Amino acid sequence: MRPFAYDRAGDVVEASRLGRDTGQGQTGASTQFLAGGTTLIDLMKLDVLRPTHLVDINPLAARHSAIEAGPEGLRLGALARMSAAADHPDVRRDYPVIAQALDQAASAQLRNMASLGGNLLQRTRCPYFRDTSVKACNKRAPGSGCAAIGGVNRNHAVLGVDDSCISQYPGDLAVALIALDAELELEGQGARRLPLAELHRAPDGRPDLETNLKPGEVITAIRAPAGAWTRRSLYLKVRDRASYEFAIASAAVALDMDGDRVRQARIGLGGMAYRPWRSHEAEAVLAGQRLTPQLAEAAAREALKGAVTHGENAYKPELGRRTIVRALLEAQRLEA
Ligand code: FAD
Ligand code: SF4
Repeated sequence: MRPFAYDRAGDVVEASRLGRDTGQGQTGASTQFLAGGTTLIDLMKLDVLRPTHLVDINPLAARHSAIEAGPEGLRLGALARMSAAADHPDVRRDYPVIAQALDQAASAQLRNMASLGGNLLQRTRCPYFRDTSVKACNKRAPGSGCAAIGGVNRNHAVLGVDDSCISQYPGDLAVALIALDAELELEGQGARRLPLAELHRAPDGRPDLETNLKPGEVITAIRAPAGAWTRRSLYLKVRDRASYEFAIASAAVALDMDGDRVRQARIGLGGMAYRPWRSHEAEAVLAGQRLTPQLAEAAAREALKGAVTHGENAYKPELGRRTIVRALLEAQRLEA
């Protein structure tokens, strides 16, 4: 048992003041915000995270958990529970890709407990990261090496990796949100907006630095802009078993169609990349073209072009390509 101090923040100003030592999503940060606790407490029990100070932000839910949809788009309070967002009628009707990503994440019990902000900031499931008896893990112990390179890496990432870390970003919600150009509302160091695509950092030799949040910053809301593509959207998740499992590949697809021609496509990829991944390259292949199986395959090839494999995960680029093709062709058949 490691001792830690516990504070409850009444509002976001207090949360930020108490949480000034949260670092940039650092694995080794001495202070951590506590929302649903389903990632944080798990990793504390495993002795992977060792904060000396927890700042409970659940009281912020009174002001930061509303779910509102309007002509400008969708605004999700970051303290909303995953189940509340997944069940919201406006989300289900107008942003099905978000509802489906949430519905297929974790279990019903976890979705009732876990917050949207915490979901975006969940940590990798790399087994070496979660096992402190393994010495080589740059994410947990900077400079120690990476046991997954040349080790057990069947579930590891093939996009956005480098020699310091090949772990996979495990979440589903962020993949749907990145496809929709979502932005985060942040408070704590003054109010600012941050595109979701800029929340997670590349490994860049320092995989222990996970986000571009400033110390003490709290995610208060997530915004997904309205657009002609949001209704014809879906989340396709491929996993080893049908429920309660992380993705080995996933695709979030949103299409704006003019008959059988693509006006605009948006493609997010999960289960295959170091961080939530947007494939602008695949989108460019589709723009203005008739969506056929051949075109979907060409787009999927483009999306996985830069894939780097490490032995056990050599199957992933092909699985990723097939997932994208299936998602595109299923999305094409949806009513807008
Ligand atoms: P917490 O554990 O409270 O916090 C997580 C991190 O985020 C902490 O570092 C905390 O400091 C920080 N934080 C939290 N809220 C904020 C905020 N508003 N601002 C700034 N920092 C914040 N997820 C999926 O997407 N798909 C799955 O299939 C899936 N399967 C799972 C299976 C199991 C068995 C488990 C245990 C989890 C699974 N998850 C899955 C992950 C789960 O969804 C996350 O643990 C959960 O969403 C985290 O939210 P939380 O509120 O509990 O976060
Ligand atoms: Fe650690 Fe990343 Fe290597 Fe896993 S892949 S052992 S998290 S450095």
